[in-house]
Amino acid sequence: MARSLPPKNPPRGPIIDPFGRRIHYVRMSVTDRCNFRCVYCMPEEGVEFTQRDELMTFEEIEQLGRVLSEMGVDRIRLTGGEPTVRRDIIELVRRLGSLPMLNDLAMTTNGWNLAKIGPDLKAAGLTRVNISIDTLDRQRFIDLARVDRLDDVLAGIEAVVAMDWLPLKLNVVVCDGMNEDEVATFVDRFAHLPVTIRFIEYMPFGESRFELVPWSRTRARLEERYTLVPAAGPDGSGPANYWSVAGTAVVVGAIGALSRQFCEACNRVRITSDGRLKNCLAYEPQMVSLRDVMRSGGTDDDLEVAIRAAILRKPLAHITGEDMSNPFEGEMIQIGG
Ligand code: SAM
Ligand code: SF4
Repeated sequence: MARSLPPKNPPRGPIIDPFGRRIHYVRMSVTDRCNFRCVYCMPEEGVEFTQRDELMTFEEIEQLGRVLSEMGVDRIRLTGGEPTVRRDIIELVRRLGSLPMLNDLAMTTNGWNLAKIGPDLKAAGLTRVNISIDTLDRQRFIDLARVDRLDDVLAGIEAVVAMDWLPLKLNVVVCDGMNEDEVATFVDRFAHLPVTIRFIEYMPFGESRFELVPWSRTRARLEERYTLVPAAGPDGSGPANYWSVAGTAVVVGAIGALSRQFCEACNRVRITSDGRLKNCLAYEPQMVSLRDVMRSGGTDDDLEVAIRAAILRKPLAHITGEDMSNPFEGEMIQIGG
């Protein structure tokens, strides 16, 4: 299980950004492809995916993971696109899972294949999974994800529970007029399980535009049915606040990049599927390609130098406001959320 504090003296020295924040959490997109087409994330057709030879290879991901962990990164989360559509994902998990200085190797997935590969992922060293599920209604699922896969996702959740791979986090993006009325239904459905349901505010990536549903509105809907009691976040938790739901085993969390700024405590960077270091989820015009450093024969030391140079560009805060006047840059599938 994750440890809350990263090692103080990693062999290569910690990664500290220009504002004194210690970076010890990396979210790695391993593919920008996906078998779903969630309305807030991807257009239905015509997505231009990264060419396969542009993606980082397993060897490159492993080298990067090793150097990052030697610099004090103790948590890596695999994401995408949908990480489980990357061929041989279990082998990649095995490689990263054997890095001695990594304490937590997690994955964010849409859950479509977990009933099948969950046990192998766990055996390969995946510490935990977050499963994204925005609705419990089949027709809505088809409208939101544009595929008829709700049963597979629910089977994935059941498989994780059956393996006792708990606590489990569920991610729910709350979209105005689409699933807003369902937030308490999620608690009803999972009331007996030690799950954390994280309600995520929509972020204006790419072409998609929805009205922001602020946490205050989601909270009010939950409180029509339940009493929320402030709770400590799960170990290593990031930009969210948490509440236990009285009378249930459920914890709910609020994640909002827009109405709830969390930048001052930012401890993370992202790696895109083609190996660029992205300092800020929202904004970064020119990213340093770590893949290119490795492809031009760079050693672990060269990679460390490139990572430190890239971190110098980390901004103090992202600047998108609740009015969405400054849309988030790039594509979520490249960045990985
Ligand atoms: N495919 C995996 C999944 O859906 O869990 C991993 C990648 S997905 C980009 C990571 C997370 O970002 C998911 O929880 C998804 O719901 C969330 N996400 C995608 N687009 C978003 C948006 N525009 N605003 C807020 N969250 C978003
Ligand atoms: Fe795919 Fe995840 Fe984006 Fe949905 S949110 S389209 S599952 S990458």
